[in-house]
Amino acid sequence: MNANEIILLKYGEIVLKGLNRNKFNQLLEKNVRRALKKADGEFRTEYAQSILFVRGAEGSDMDAAFALLKKVFGVATVCRGLECEKDMDAIRAVLREHADGLLGAARSFKCEAKRSDKQFPLKSPEICAVCGEELLEACPHLRVDVHDPEVTVTIEIRDRAAVVHGVREHGAGGIPVGSEDRAMLLLSGGIDSPVAGYMTAKRGAELDAVYFETPPYTSEAAREKVISLARKLAEYAGTIRLHSVNLTEVQQAIAANCDERLFTLLLRRFMMRCAERLAVQADAVALVTGESIGQVASQTMRSIASTDDAVTLPVLRPCIGLDKEEIVVRARQIGTFEISTLPYEDCCVLFTPRHPNTRPVLDDVRAEEAKLDVDGLVERAVRTDRVLRVW
Ligand code: ATP
Ligand code: MG
Repeated sequence: MNANEIILLKYGEIVLKGLNRNKFNQLLEKNVRRALKKADGEFRTEYAQSILFVRGAEGSDMDAAFALLKKVFGVATVCRGLECEKDMDAIRAVLREHADGLLGAARSFKCEAKRSDKQFPLKSPEICAVCGEELLEACPHLRVDVHDPEVTVTIEIRDRAAVVHGVREHGAGGIPVGSEDRAMLLLSGGIDSPVAGYMTAKRGAELDAVYFETPPYTSEAAREKVISLARKLAEYAGTIRLHSVNLTEVQQAIAANCDERLFTLLLRRFMMRCAERLAVQADAVALVTGESIGQVASQTMRSIASTDDAVTLPVLRPCIGLDKEEIVVRARQIGTFEISTLPYEDCCVLFTPRHPNTRPVLDDVRAEEAKLDVDGLVERAVRTDRVLRVW
């Protein structure tokens, strides 16, 4: 029997007023093709009637393609199907052979026919009747439920071929990366910032990321971990330019001159300033962090306000209202948790004050910082920027 595997993507809702349907479709198709480059094989895409059809040349890795396409933002549902000759015998043979895959664990189903080729000899209800019978014979434990089926098996009679598909899975949702501007993610090796990056990309933003290291207090292994995190994020966000910036001099200057209770906050302000400088160079219009209110001393509302005071770009904090546990659930879902929990030191951990000030007064923070050559420190730190493209 001659049937080819095919993947069908149903697009999500177009939520952006400024982006018309055509642009949205083109962007999403471009992102789909880019994702498919990571799978072995050659793939073609075709958009028709609100569905993107993905076909692989002989020997292409359709399993890998399916897994990759589940991570493309803007896709509402993903479904595997089969394409065969436009002939009822061929269609029945496909149904018989692939009944398990088409129906999954469902106990009830219905058939639905779409007949865009109006020359096809059978009408839609007749196609459904024949196909339903075939599936019932192949899987006698099933029943037909036309009102509330667990799975709908769709038989499409298209111009050149017939396509049969069943169980649908959720796509990544969101809107296509590139439908928004670029954002600069402050990516530590922790659990929260990768989730924040994921959530921002899900709403269409392209990402640059910056990691601040303080060698020799932080190791090359800690940087490798952040690179792995960026790679994992890139599965969703597309290409990410990952910047690494050396903050050792800044950290030493703070440690030598400032009030210990404000160490973390002052360091965070330097991070924000450096990130902002790189953001402007990268044409990014916002900064993104993984902060959530009250999670640690440097994330009380007052501390967050003092952090924001150092920059003028808007700072997005998608995790702001999530509990740690909720963030962990998401980190597990997207596959960053296992990487984030690898045991490498974070520059802030090595520099944590014993009694941090959780209610910093902005004037005090500014006064402490005025003891330092802020511009010079930022300038020299930004010059250490090393960029790595991950995708
Ligand atoms: P995360 O799990 O993301 O590290 P966290 O709960 O450990 O967050 P903090 O260490 O207080 O929180 O950091 C708050 C935010 O500041 C992080 O989410 C991240 O966006 C940014 N940040 C902290 N350390 C770094 C770093 N070394 N490099 C880049 N960004 C950082
Ligand atoms: Mg951290």
